[in-house]
Amino acid sequence: HAKAGGRNNFQFFTEEMNQTVQERLVLEGDLRVAIERGEFLLHYQPQIEMSTGRVIGVEALLRWQHPVHGLVTPDRFIPVAEETGMIVAIGEVALKTACRQLAAWLAAGLPPLRVSVNLSARQFKQDNLPALLQDVLRETGIESHLLELEITESSAMENPADAILHLRGFREMGVELAIDDFGTGYSSLSYLKLFPVHRLKIDRSFVKDIDTDTDDAEIAAATIALAHTLGKEVVAEGVETEAQCRFLQGQRCDILQGYYFSRPLPPEEIVPYLRNNAVPSPLVRA
Ligand code: C2E
Ligand code: MG
Ligand code: MG
Ligand code: MG
Repeated sequence: HAKAGGRNNFQFFTEEMNQTVQERLVLEGDLRVAIERGEFLLHYQPQIEMSTGRVIGVEALLRWQHPVHGLVTPDRFIPVAEETGMIVAIGEVALKTACRQLAAWLAAGLPPLRVSVNLSARQFKQDNLPALLQDVLRETGIESHLLELEITESSAMENPADAILHLRGFREMGVELAIDDFGTGYSSLSYLKLFPVHRLKIDRSFVKDIDTDTDDAEIAAATIALAHTLGKEVVAEGVETEAQCRFLQGQRCDILQGYYFSRPLPPEEIVPYLRNNAVPSPLVRA
């Protein structure tokens, strides 16, 4: 036992530890129950095509309707779900729900759009993921190119050689692929060339000060240029202001996503956006 300081300090330390362990156990138990009871749902955030100002797709983002705490966002439960392996079951629910939702929207006559689903590092490595994807595509009947899988740069870089093989397999199924949180995961340029993905999503930490911080502006501009050289599209995450939009437009960024256009919304609230297939935007006026 590391006993830093006197007796009182030690007791204080262990009490804090106990509380953390306690909270963690409660969260784990709640998550198990949540999977059984089906307390997970998805919100959807529109992605805007720069050249047209139209909604080209939506990103599906997990939410947990907790019986006591209300709507819980993923940062509160994904890390524990990932460590315990529960993310595999939760991720399967997310994938199925997103594809079923898209099928329902298309059946209701909404214009075709893409749905993007986040994959955790653990899910990405699962041997049965291709079979699951095949099942979901068959069950829902959606065209495979309307499904996009987002893999974070850091999970792709855990084992780049395996990642390339997995990505290649998904690509052969016709599913679209994106590297999420790009710029935070230290990928080398040589791997970027080898990852068979359709697009890169610039992490929102670079977008935040894009119009005021010259370093962030340079990084974003270089990322967009590099992606285009490699034949990939670029999505900017976390776009909150018109100034950020203008900058990204100047750099020929392909797709924009962020609160400036819309927060992630429950399905019933996003339908009006999809029906008009446009969101209020200075790009539409341009
Ligand atoms: P992400 O995939 O990078 O998703 C983007 C996050 O940025 C979302 O947070 C979204 O609500 C938030 N965001 C979008 N626009 C803006 C903006 O303009 N400003 C700011 N400040 N934030 C914005 P959210 O929904 O809390 O999700 C957080 C993370 O949880 C996601 O990051 C993703 O890594 C993970 N996640 C969400 N759904 C799933 C899922 O189904 N499976 C897995 N494995 N992970 C998921
Ligand atoms: Mg994402
Ligand atoms: Mg992201
Ligand atoms: Mg992120």
